[in-house]
Amino acid sequence: MLSCKHLVEQASEYIDEEMSTGKRVQVKLHLFVCVSCRRYMKQLKLTIAMLGRKHHHQAPEEMCHHLLKEYQKAE
Ligand SMILES: [Zn+2]
Repeated sequence: MLSCKHLVEQASEYIDEEMSTGKRVQVKLHLFVCVSCRRYMKQLKLTIAMLGRKHHHQAPEEMCHHLLKEYQKAE
């Protein structure tokens, strides 16, 4: 059985799906029986989702500003 410490250490790997199937099963099993890790995992997923979304929004906006500047230069 996976310990809580182990689960926390591997949580981001699990969310990023960079984990082997055998390990994933162990994590899932732990999450099934451990409420505090389930809560931790939910929180971490939310944080990553928020950061990810923020990151995705920033990139195209920067590109638009850059293109606009290039347009203004050209005219
Ligand atoms: Zn736990």
